[in-house]
Formats: sequence, C-alpha cells, structure tokens
Amino acid sequence: MRPIDADFAKERIKKSDLTSREKIALLLILEDVPILAPPCNDPLTHHALDMVRGERERQCTLWGDQSGNSLFEWVSILGEEYGELCEAVNETSFSNAAHPDRGGFEAIIKEAVQVAAVAVAIIEAVHRRRPEEGTPSWNC
Ligand SMILES: [Mg+2]
Repeated sequence: MRPIDADFAKERIKKSDLTSREKIALLLILEDVPILAPPCNDPLTHHALDMVRGERERQCTLWGDQSGNSLFEWVSILGEEYGELCEAVNETSFSNAAHPDRGGFEAIIKEAVQVAAVAVAIIEAVHRRRPEEGTPSWNC
C-alpha cells in the first residue's frame, strides 16, 4: 500500500465538497486520533461518558428536535442545568443547607451529567450551523 502524504490529503479534504462533519472525521483519521476511545482508560471515565450519552439520548426523547434552538436558548438551558448543579453541591456542602433533599452525591452526579449532555447538544448545534468558510452565522 502506498503511503499517504498527510499534508496533501488534509489540503484536499479542506477544499472538498464534504460536510464539516465528514471533514472532521477524515482529519481525525489522518491525525491517527482514536475517535471512539475516551481520553484515558480509567473505568470511571467510561462510566461517566456512558452516563452522558444516556442522558443526551433521554433529553432527545424528552424534548424532541431542538435543532432550531438559538445559541442564547442553548446557553440559557445550560445555565439552568449549571444552576441546579451548584444547588446540589451547596445543599451537600453547607451545614445550614435550606433544602438538603436537593443535595447528595447522587444529585451532584445527576446534575453534572445533565450539564455535560447539554454541552454535547451545544457542540452538535454549532457543528450543524458552522459554515464551510468564514464567520459563523447564527440568529441569536
Ligand atoms: Mg437538572
């Protein structure tokens, strides 16, 4: 098999008619990035990423197609989830917590997973709307 000139291939990919997603996938292959592998082999990383994937799927089922959300709507949703994560940590950490039922390690994990899943949704949304060249166009 003939070796690939990676720089030449990258330039061809950038100028091709492929979608942004296809270009990214091919560039990752050329960079020899393990696309499906997590960043480390800690079993907790696998577990955490599985939880985020499951939550992302749950959100898709719950809310349906949200591809029309503006960036402001996405950031607002993320802010709400982050606020709930902060509340879970506060209600766990402060001895004078007003709503200790909203705290606990399970609540912290649940809210952190929801924050991560919304962040994934934002990444998906930006990828969908990213133009091939130039400044992103987004009706905020
Ligand atoms: Mg939440």
